[in-house]
Amino acid sequence: MEKISEGQQMHDLMKELFPITRSITGEGVRQTLRILKEIHPELEIKSVKSGERCFDWIVPKEWKIDDAYLLEVETGRKVIDFKRSNLHVVNYSVGVDKTLTFEELKNHLHYREDLPDAIPYVTSYYNPYWGFCLTYNQYKELDRNKTYRAVIKARHFDGELNYGELVIKGKSSKEIFFSTYICHPSLANDNLSGPVLATYLAKWIKENLKDRNFTYRFVFIPETIGAICYLSRNLKHLKENVVAGFVLTCVGDEGSFSYLPSRYGNTLADKVALNLLNYDPLVGGNYKKYSYLDRGSDERQYCAPGVDLPVCLIMKSKFGEYKEYHTSLDNLDFVTPKGLQESFDLYRKVIEVLEHNKVYKTTVICEPQMGRRGLYHKISHRGRKGFVKLLMDFLAYADGTNDLIDIANILKVSAHSLIEVADLLKRHNLIEEV
Ligand code: ZN
Repeated sequence: MEKISEGQQMHDLMKELFPITRSITGEGVRQTLRILKEIHPELEIKSVKSGERCFDWIVPKEWKIDDAYLLEVETGRKVIDFKRSNLHVVNYSVGVDKTLTFEELKNHLHYREDLPDAIPYVTSYYNPYWGFCLTYNQYKELDRNKTYRAVIKARHFDGELNYGELVIKGKSSKEIFFSTYICHPSLANDNLSGPVLATYLAKWIKENLKDRNFTYRFVFIPETIGAICYLSRNLKHLKENVVAGFVLTCVGDEGSFSYLPSRYGNTLADKVALNLLNYDPLVGGNYKKYSYLDRGSDERQYCAPGVDLPVCLIMKSKFGEYKEYHTSLDNLDFVTPKGLQESFDLYRKVIEVLEHNKVYKTTVICEPQMGRRGLYHKISHRGRKGFVKLLMDFLAYADGTNDLIDIANILKVSAHSLIEVADLLKRHNLIEEV
């Protein structure tokens, strides 16, 4: 039986999650978490009550929407119907049932003239407002002389904010941290690509990294408010234990990779990301480098002064930088199994490099006699030209001051390709961990 690729499996999961109406709070978030919990039964679904204080923020009320539509009163025709796309309603809209002239209605309509077939994704979380989103083509067809009845059956009430937390224990209490968000409705790259990648990375760690050193922490939170809530409850633990972390978003399209650094770009997360982006054959140095000034997702919280977690982002097309972003065009066609697989393969390498990123020191003075150990034979048998040179170059810098990534950077190779070299040298007692 042919193995179904992780990319395909992630895309299938995305298909299941895609229709759910998510927001920063409410049933859509819980439904999403319950589906992820079917794959990871140990995923804990947590809740924080509306009104609770998290640093400078107050947890907002829960939002429930049952239906929404815009009627042309004269004909009774539904010109916009939430049932056709959950993007048709401004996310977190207040409820309304009102008859209006076109002039009055106009202020509540959102469209993109530059993308006439796209429904834009608009939110109004912290300012009570109602509105509809529609394509520019739909907008042009509205009759300016008719009256309209706007109906949004939505309400806000004291409830809870939910998030998911999955911890996969390793030998060490030191952690690798992955954060992704689950607050966007039917949108694929930003943001369902993040939760599906997190889900399948966690699955891969459990199934293939049994001898892991690090503990792995995955959080599935509503963007911004969820990150702030999570940090307000876990800051001390995270600061003491997280050695590298990543915000997973925009990881599913077929564009080139992008990198957005931590605040100063000098953490272990940045170091491993840059080595692989620069030298690993998966990327071949073909990526876009952004600045922390271009930040936009939860790195804003994780890298804030006083938080200072070692968190950066490796994305495909960065949020805000592709035309489909925050519109109905960011869909299951824009995100592909191939795009998801590329991100999965790169993050898998990130994890493997971090697991092997030790400081090594040679155990012999001067160059070791490789022939006596059968290493030349082994190497030539493998038919890999340049491997001896790689081995000798590795030894030349295994002086007890460089970790695996440092050596890889000096040699201008992917740190992932040195894992095998380090393992071989270790087996022959030619290096030891410092
Ligand atoms: Zn977004």
